[in-house]
Parts: sequence; C-alpha cells; structure tokens
Amino acid sequence: MESIPRKDCDCSQCRSKDKKDVRFRSSILIDKKIMIDASPDILSQLRVDQIKNLDTVIITHEHDDHTGGIKHLLKLHRDLRIIRLKPGQHFKLLGLDFFGFRIEHSKMAPTVGILINNMVYIPDSASLDFALKYLQDVKVAILDGSSLGRSFGGHMAINDIIATVKPYKNLKTTYFTHNGHTHKTHKEMEQIVKSLGDNRFKIAYDKLEIQV
Ligand SMILES: [Zn+2]
Ligand SMILES: [Zn+2]
Ligand SMILES: [Zn+2]
Repeated sequence: MESIPRKDCDCSQCRSKDKKDVRFRSSILIDKKIMIDASPDILSQLRVDQIKNLDTVIITHEHDDHTGGIKHLLKLHRDLRIIRLKPGQHFKLLGLDFFGFRIEHSKMAPTVGILINNMVYIPDSASLDFALKYLQDVKVAILDGSSLGRSFGGHMAINDIIATVKPYKNLKTTYFTHNGHTHKTHKEMEQIVKSLGDNRFKIAYDKLEIQV
C-alpha cells in the first residue's frame, strides 16, 4: 500500500483538493499512547513530541507499510515498547483489553486482527472468516479499504466486506481504512459504501478521531 496522491497520476482521486484525499499509510493512535502499526510515514504523521509520549506500538504483520516506521520511532524513543501481536495473545494496556486473532492476508507475513474492547481493527484482510465471531459482537469495526470492486493481492474487496458484515446489526459503524488507489475521491467513496451498505459504512481519513 502506498500513500495518496500517487506520483505522476492525474486521476480524480490524486488531483482532488479535498484534504481527506491526502493519505499517509494507515495507523491508529489510541489515547495518544498506543499506536497500532508504524508506517514509513510516521514522522510526518506524528509530531516528535507526540512520539516521545507514545507508550507502545502494536504490529499487525511484517509488511513494510506497517513496520517501516519502527526504526524512526526507536531513534527518537529508545524505550518504546514494540509488541508483535500473535494470534491468541491477550493483554491489558491503559485499562483496555487487547486480543490478537489470525487473519488471512499473506503467506509470508502472518497477520492478526485486533479486538480492543468493543472494537475490531483489521487493516489488511484477504478473508474475514476468522474474524466473524468478533465482528458479530462489537460496535465498531475498522476494516480493509484497499480494493473496490474486486479483491487483489491479499485484500478482500470493499464490496465483499460490506456484503459480509452488513447483516450484523451490532455494528453501529464500520470504517474503511488502508484506503487504496481506487481513482475515486473520499466523497465518491462515501457514497459508494453507503449505497453498497447503508449509513453505518464510512471511509476513514487521516486525522479522523473516533470515540468508542
Ligand atoms: Zn491516481
Ligand atoms: Zn499487508
Ligand atoms: Zn498494509
């Protein structure tokens, strides 16, 4: 996964003037202390003082778009705790429950999804089969938005993800992150996921803040 806009591309997504169409690679920051995945863009995503306040980085899998920032973080913050989460691994951090479960995505890079209290985070997935029991139970899901229309290279298409989770009424909001080069703007993508699903489906964007 690469950032948007792409160099030398003049599609409407890459030419968009909407700030929501400028995308670094995906991470989430929880309570300003815990980060999930460390993309190579990390120094642009977080100010240096924010990095010093980080407590822990949790890694979902060993692909460069998720780990390429670790070396930058460790240069600024030697004591940073890095957890390469394994399926079945459970721990509590800052009062939150974290649980890793296996996700199909890459043969070379075993991948986990993460259950955090009432939320599931799965930025990369070829299939959600191993995640269904968690998705049936949580309020918020953040899922793989890499691909629209058809699946490719370890990424299940947004269309198929929506068809899978739409029946789960427990899910109050599903965000798509890890958004790919779909040639559609954020605004257009919001319309598309709404029409494939309903108002509960949203497209995440850089610096989006949510309360769970
Ligand atoms: Zn483009
Ligand atoms: Zn990956
Ligand atoms: Zn990725």
